[in-house]
Amino acid sequence: MYPTVPASGLHFKTALLPQGWARNVRIEHAGGRITRIEQGVKPASGDERGLVGLPGIPNLHSHAFQRGMAGLTERHGVNHDGFWSWRKLMYRFAARLAPEDLQALAAQAYVEMLEAGFTRVCEFHYLHHAPGGARYANPAEMVERIAAAAADTGIGLSLLPVFYAHSSFGGAAPAAEQARFVNDVDGYGQLLEASRTALTGLHAARLGIAPHSLRAATPEELRDILPLAADGPVHIHIAEQPREVIECEAMLGARPVQWLLNEMPVDARWCLIHATHVTGDELAGLAASGAVAGLCPITEANLGDGLFPVATYQAQGGRFGVGTDSNLLIDLAEELRLLDYGQRLRNGIRNALATPERSTGRALFEATLQGGLRASGVGMGASADSDEPASAVGLHAGAHADILSLADHVALTGRGDDAILDSFIYAARPGLIDCVWRAGHKLVCNGVHAQRASIATRFRATLQRLLNE
Ligand SMILES: [Zn+2]
Repeated sequence: MYPTVPASGLHFKTALLPQGWARNVRIEHAGGRITRIEQGVKPASGDERGLVGLPGIPNLHSHAFQRGMAGLTERHGVNHDGFWSWRKLMYRFAARLAPEDLQALAAQAYVEMLEAGFTRVCEFHYLHHAPGGARYANPAEMVERIAAAAADTGIGLSLLPVFYAHSSFGGAAPAAEQARFVNDVDGYGQLLEASRTALTGLHAARLGIAPHSLRAATPEELRDILPLAADGPVHIHIAEQPREVIECEAMLGARPVQWLLNEMPVDARWCLIHATHVTGDELAGLAASGAVAGLCPITEANLGDGLFPVATYQAQGGRFGVGTDSNLLIDLAEELRLLDYGQRLRNGIRNALATPERSTGRALFEATLQGGLRASGVGMGASADSDEPASAVGLHAGAHADILSLADHVALTGRGDDAILDSFIYAARPGLIDCVWRAGHKLVCNGVHAQRASIATRFRATLQRLLNE
């Protein structure tokens, strides 16, 4: 599907390297990794050329199938609309999906991610069983569909099979509409093993674990499944909604993030998704733990979750990245813009995320890259099958050849260095991303994924059928 022998050289007039901006940068790659970077050189014959070269960004949180219900939940409900009424609609949609439907919806989401500048996705995957909860003969049936969607599109995959056992705190029995998600600890172990096999052959795939939330896993179950992560990442939804905080305090005697920090070995392998409702102490503890806060600004805004205090957290050295979560709108620049604008609106301060050395856009972009790689189990020596260098992140020899180029766009007129990223995030309509390479393969050209048309056709046919059933 993709060129088997991609051009081995890329040349950019400007590129963002780990040490900063550089001019006339030539990047060689082989076997999916960058093998050499030179500055101040002319392109070699046969090089692909671009204006601005940037590292691809990992998307640290996605439920791919939810792309199919984007825009269908914006009507006034009978009762007070909020996260929980949205979740009811999501459950109804999820209940209908056959394995091939999941693949079709996920492939569309992944095309859009690549076109937006996301070169890897952390898929927080919880649709394990057949409609009604019957077991597929192959425990990795649905995992294989996610892996196939990643293979179809070329996106890097960090798979996080979800452990889900209960409807609420205290080990409450799962609800009927959660039957497709539910496993006990033994079943989950089998799912992980089958998932590991399913990912064999998918280039640079990573496997981690994802206890869904403190609602869906008891403390005992959490302790039981943690060793199954080996040294892969551990992701968990946490403190997304005030009701969850109240129930957690009542049942576990502490707020969700506080409980996790007190009771679990939270470290750099962990990614706490949302962590919206945190106290100052929880925030400081999270920053000190080395874990990544997985922020999903578009989805959090849409669901009315609240605002994570990212400026305070960043000042404490906290790590974060962004995820597209519900995939309502897949847009890297928009996630970063909204993340910052939430802080500005709340605090009445501009450029709180900037540092003396970095503009706001660059600080956001680099933090998102570093946090995203860590949460993906890439680049931080965080995976057992990893031969990753443990230090630098971004475009350097040894890194995955996951690269974006920006187009010669009117919004970049006269912009250099940090102003390029500021213009990308704050001042441009979509269309700034020109090409995207993942593992050295050029997947997006002139802003369009090579398989966009065929994948969109399948997505539309799938959705037409699902919505008319
Ligand atoms: Zn989520």
